[in-house]
Amino acid sequence: DIDLDVLALVNDTVGTMMTCGYDDPHCEVGLIIGTGTNACYMEDMRHIDLVEGDEGRMCINTEWGAFGDDGALDDLRTEFDREIDLGSLNPGKQLFEKMISSLYLGELVRLVLLKMTKEGLLFNGKVSTALLTKGKIEMKHVCAMEKYKEGLSNTKEILTELNLFPSEEDCIAVQHVCTIISFRSANLCAAALAAILTRLRENKKLLRMRTTVGIDGGLYKFHPQYAKRLHKVVRRLVPNCDVRFVLSVRGSGTGAAMVTAVGYRLAAQRKQIDASLAPFLLSLDTLREVKDKMRTELEYGLKRETQASASVKMLPTYVCGTPDGTEKGKFLALDLGGTNFRVLLVKIRSGRRRSVQMYNKIFAIPLEIMQGTGEELFDHIVQCIADFLEYMGLKGARLPLGFTFSFPCRQASIDKGTLVGWTKGFKATDCEGEDVVDMLREAIRRRNEFDLDIVAVVNDTVGTMMTCGYEDPNCEIGLIAGTGSNVCYMEDMKNIEIVEGNEGKMCINTEWGGFGDNGCIDNIRTKYDREVDEGSLNPGKQRYEKMTSGMYLGEIVRQILIDLTKQGLLFRGQISESLRKKGIFETKFLSQIESDRLALLQVRRILQQLGLDSTCEDSIIVKEVCGAVSRRAAQLCGAGLAAIVEKKRENRGVEHLQITVGVDGTLYKLHPHFSRVLQETVKELAPQCDVTFMLSEDGSGKGAALITAVAKRLHNVGQK
Ligand code: ADP
Ligand code: MG
Repeated sequence: DIDLDVLALVNDTVGTMMTCGYDDPHCEVGLIIGTGTNACYMEDMRHIDLVEGDEGRMCINTEWGAFGDDGALDDLRTEFDREIDLGSLNPGKQLFEKMISSLYLGELVRLVLLKMTKEGLLFNGKVSTALLTKGKIEMKHVCAMEKYKEGLSNTKEILTELNLFPSEEDCIAVQHVCTIISFRSANLCAAALAAILTRLRENKKLLRMRTTVGIDGGLYKFHPQYAKRLHKVVRRLVPNCDVRFVLSVRGSGTGAAMVTAVGYRLAAQRKQIDASLAPFLLSLDTLREVKDKMRTELEYGLKRETQASASVKMLPTYVCGTPDGTEKGKFLALDLGGTNFRVLLVKIRSGRRRSVQMYNKIFAIPLEIMQGTGEELFDHIVQCIADFLEYMGLKGARLPLGFTFSFPCRQASIDKGTLVGWTKGFKATDCEGEDVVDMLREAIRRRNEFDLDIVAVVNDTVGTMMTCGYEDPNCEIGLIAGTGSNVCYMEDMKNIEIVEGNEGKMCINTEWGGFGDNGCIDNIRTKYDREVDEGSLNPGKQRYEKMTSGMYLGEIVRQILIDLTKQGLLFRGQISESLRKKGIFETKFLSQIESDRLALLQVRRILQQLGLDSTCEDSIIVKEVCGAVSRRAAQLCGAGLAAIVEKKRENRGVEHLQITVGVDGTLYKLHPHFSRVLQETVKELAPQCDVTFMLSEDGSGKGAALITAVAKRLHNVGQK
């Protein structure tokens, strides 16, 4: 009539480690030296093939008592060991234990004394019945005889009780036998323990390790010399480990309670963490829904009546053809992305020796310029161009120029682009609603040093598509997963209501980052997404981008970590100064932390460098959070892309579509899982499309030059 819930079954070694661990958090080995001997230790999960999962550690009960059962100890075992084994309940088994533990120690002494007596070396060769009787010498006797402080009196008394008549020399010899046998036991134990300690140190990749061993068992506790000897030999065998030995005073029973309590705590924490991350797990149905909604928005953006209010703007780019291989010449290209500004010189050769050569220089855009005035921004850009021309020895050359401008622009022709609105980290004033080509021309005029022939303003997605299109004519989609997230694709002119003409195709810059700005995906946005949005430069805008791109993933992770810490599930419930800092958790850290090659301790080191003092358990949770955020990002991107390829398939009216997507962006290129998850999602959601992903090498720069070249070619043809 008692209600019990059995939560744990615990080996005594584990119980010992846990009780000692309660007082000393460094305790990661449990050792028993009593009636039997055994040890447990914390092993890295990645080394435990028998158990699923690679994260964290698990306690392994070695059952080392059976060491030697395969013959490994045969050259150390003596005739006495063999005799003990033969007379035991389990012959051939637990051979290591039989050389060590208290159950056998007294008996070993008895067998040695018996042989010595029979050979006339002790007691004048007179054997007593007691000496012939199994079990007559016990561990407690061995302990008593080895109490050197009490001289030989204990030894004499014990031998007399066994009906032997010891001389003083006999007593000295018997005490010596006891010492040899118990010392061997301690030595063997020390050797085995040294193996475990070395393993732990190697797992942690440390040159020196500090650790604690929790010990229980009568032989260790009550034998007068045993503990001291064990410690000394261990220290000699593993000089690069600072080992603390802690005697378990509470016993293995408390350990069982401890294991249960820890298990209980972990289970409760697990539930809370799962609940926090649950909104990031998107079912296949949800992803299909996202794909369908994206499809709807794509159509809205193309239709005249709905286009003005569409959240996916579907901007025509006036890029109507991909390269045909006859392009040639020298071009300047500018690339203003989300992080840097680059100026490039691109030399394109046509014909049989078709090639593209590029020279470039990267310039940082200081934050005060990104968020200063438009004039300052464009003056800075022109300053960089001047530096580059000087550096290349091209001052005074009037080269055709393509401008990759990775922000949404409404274009009226290939060299006119009105900025719809800043995205990512930019907020320069007096630019929105203005033509960026005009702004660039004016800045060049203000400087009055050189002139440039600005031929094309190009979105980075388009540049990427064109670069890949130069290699693979089947490439009709360009995807960016970098600071921001965006896609372009070749659309049939007849579907683009806002541009005159029904013949041929034009590339559409979808600006899909704004997907959801009308609230259509609010059902999958979490409270963390809302917090990131509210803290951003453009609240309420680019909702899809804020769930999928490099600029925001780290920030989402930071918001979750803050929440988990508030719930007391991380960092001991302490929100550190660093964790409060916006932007501290950059997306590149997700890539590092999620790398499969990284051991937990390295994850911990990364967090520590960020000023987040974390335990191993914290590191596991942080890694899990990163995984949930980046996986959702890749899946959402995949769902969007599935909508695009499906649309292309229907445009062409084919059952199966073969298509290539040109991709650029550091998130796609460097994150260890993003690209794979994205591709898997596309395959799952658009099974009738066979999509090849092609990495664009330096897409935005090369692409701008190619578009310029194509535009020049078409222009020249027009003039003839
Ligand atoms: P941009 O999109 O600004 O033109 P990139 O494609 O190089 O340029 O993307 C830069 C962005 O990629 C950074 O803002 C950052 O968010 C992200 N990033 C940088 N390093 C990594 C990395 N190792 N793993 C994943 N993302 C990264
Ligand atoms: Mg870029």
